Amino acid sequence: MLYKVRDEISKDYDVIIVGSGLAGMTAANILGRDGHSVLLLESHNKLGGFATWFFRNDRTHVFDVSLHGFPAGMIKTCRKYWNKEIADSIVQLKDVRFVNPQFKVQTDFTKEHYTQVMVEQFGVARETVDAFFKFLGEMNFFDNSEMTNGQLFEKFFPGRNDVVRFLMEPITYANGSTLEDPAITYGIVFSNFMSKGVYTFKGGTDFLIAKMKDELLKNNVDIKLQARVEKIQIENGKVTGVVLGGKTIRTRAVLSNGNIKSTVLNLVGEEHFPEGFAEKARNIRLNSSSCQVYMGLKEGATIPYIGELVFTSEYPTYVPERLLDLKVSSRTFSVYYPKETRPQVENARVAIVSSTNCNYLDWKKLTPEEYEKEKSFMIEETIKGLEAFIPDIRDKLEVVEAATPLTIERYTLHPQGTSFGTKFEGLEVSMNLHKTLPGLFHAGSVGIIMSGWLGAANYGAIQSNAIESYLGTGV
Ligand SMILES: Cc1cc2nc3c(=O)[nH]c(=O)nc-3n(C[C@H](O)[C@H](O)[C@H](O)COP(=O)(O)OP(=O)(O)OC[C@H]3O[C@@H](n4cnc5c(N)ncnc54)[C@H](O)[C@@H]3O)c2cc1C
Repeated sequence: MLYKVRDEISKDYDVIIVGSGLAGMTAANILGRDGHSVLLLESHNKLGGFATWFFRNDRTHVFDVSLHGFPAGMIKTCRKYWNKEIADSIVQLKDVRFVNPQFKVQTDFTKEHYTQVMVEQFGVARETVDAFFKFLGEMNFFDNSEMTNGQLFEKFFPGRNDVVRFLMEPITYANGSTLEDPAITYGIVFSNFMSKGVYTFKGGTDFLIAKMKDELLKNNVDIKLQARVEKIQIENGKVTGVVLGGKTIRTRAVLSNGNIKSTVLNLVGEEHFPEGFAEKARNIRLNSSSCQVYMGLKEGATIPYIGELVFTSEYPTYVPERLLDLKVSSRTFSVYYPKETRPQVENARVAIVSSTNCNYLDWKKLTPEEYEKEKSFMIEETIKGLEAFIPDIRDKLEVVEAATPLTIERYTLHPQGTSFGTKFEGLEVSMNLHKTLPGLFHAGSVGIIMSGWLGAANYGAIQSNAIESYLGTGV
């Protein structure tokens, strides 16, 4: 077993996994459990990738970065590819709220309740709502339809910006989708959520990743943290190893959990791909990034119950591009009530995380002084926004911090701090990687569909199957 930082890597492997996001870890666990020798290399000093957390003030405060909500499918995924204990810790968020100038809604985010709201509050004909859900249910990934999200909504709810906001805003938040993205991506992700609502992991991200680490070690996966892979080595047109700290570790296959563009263009190098393929990789568009404000309350401070996930906006209508603005007025509050989120921690504090989608370049172009000023502005606006729900919140705060796309880029190595991988075209390049360069596989946030906790974990499982087939050919 390899885990400690000082442990030396001294053998060859069947598979090396570069990156320990949920896709990389899930693939590593399946391959290790199936008896392959697996090495998991992670650049950061902890496992999880975006599925991460951090402590402040001597561990009295803990903040979850991306544990806001995922579809019920995660329960099955965790039971199948991890273990029952992990799956059993997944619980439903029953109180999702929307507060904006167009409407106020409290929902459990299920198809049944969404239908009720659209019919009774928005006055849409039931037949139209039923036809919309039927259309989504019948959407087929392989139909390759050209329809965009904008066209999908215009087909069913023409001129109804409020309905589009209700349907689209949470998905824009969940994976950076816009009205120009293919409707199939919306159909899959929205239907996943609507099947049974939104779920979270009871215990917090730190608890989950600790359990995943135990399971990986039980399945004999060797793990090395603070191990940033410099190069994936190619010899005679196929993968033979990775370069770490200037040394080569030999392997029969590599699964990269890094960004797909970085994988093709930097880790491997475009000279190893046919020109058409490299060009496709170059042309992949990155998805948007995120800003967050983390707020931790003083010891003993409590707040009234305001819901678990609150989508708020002061903007009069739904304009997706405005959701990315530097001076945004739309944000999503995730509220972590200690007893519900971390029942295992004595005296756990209330934590509130505000998230907004944003453009990397808006932050990158700022001077250091401007950057600090914008961060302070964002924090101040966020607290003001929260005061609308909890008027005395300012006095109760002990820790307030903010993260921007530059923070994300630094910690996850994702180019431009992309939070949700790439636009749709990234999926084709990712899925065809091993057909183009034998032994090279990719899994992780890509193509909108494969992003988020569920998408990433499931993609890791899909790619582990492809790797097993490749290893079975006796390479
Ligand atoms: C602010 C925010 C909020 C989110 N909220 C939600 C949510 O509520 N629900 C949801 O389902 N999803 C959410 N997501 C998205 C979700 O967290 C991600 O889609 C998912 O966790 C990505 O997993 P991944 O497998 O693609 O890998 P990532 O998490 O991207 O991890 C990749 C890992 O690879 C490592 N790596 C990269 N290059 C190298 C290298 N050369 N050598 C070694 N290691 C390397 C990185 O350090 C990183 O640890 C959110 C994302 C963000 C940013």
